[in-house]
Amino acid sequence: MNVESRKKALHYFFGKIVDPMGYKFTPDQELVDFLLEQEVILEQKHGIPFCPCQGLRHDRSRDMKIVCPCIPFHRKHFDIMKRCWCGLYVHKDVTDPDSLPQLPYSEADHE
Ligand code: SF4
Repeated sequence: MNVESRKKALHYFFGKIVDPMGYKFTPDQELVDFLLEQEVILEQKHGIPFCPCQGLRHDRSRDMKIVCPCIPFHRKHFDIMKRCWCGLYVHKDVTDPDSLPQLPYSEADHE
């Protein structure tokens, strides 16, 4: 499968996965296109569509927590920001993704 076809397939499947979690793809189409392409490249290399923004540590139990969409493993953190770490997904009510902060969990307001 070529890169464009695989990107379309991941877009379809990932959309179905994140929807019940209250997330959607960011309205920034350029970012969606770029990040999905990076995931396809990672999938071609490792056999798994790992997160393009979080480095692999070659520790399987940790690395499986950064397989896209990794929202269930980082839900509390992402819900505070209303976006995932890369910004590929945002809360469904978000219309301006650029307004969302990208905060390390240690700096996020946990209230
Ligand atoms: S941070 Fe976003 S793009 Fe990266 S793996 Fe998690 S859900 Fe996917």
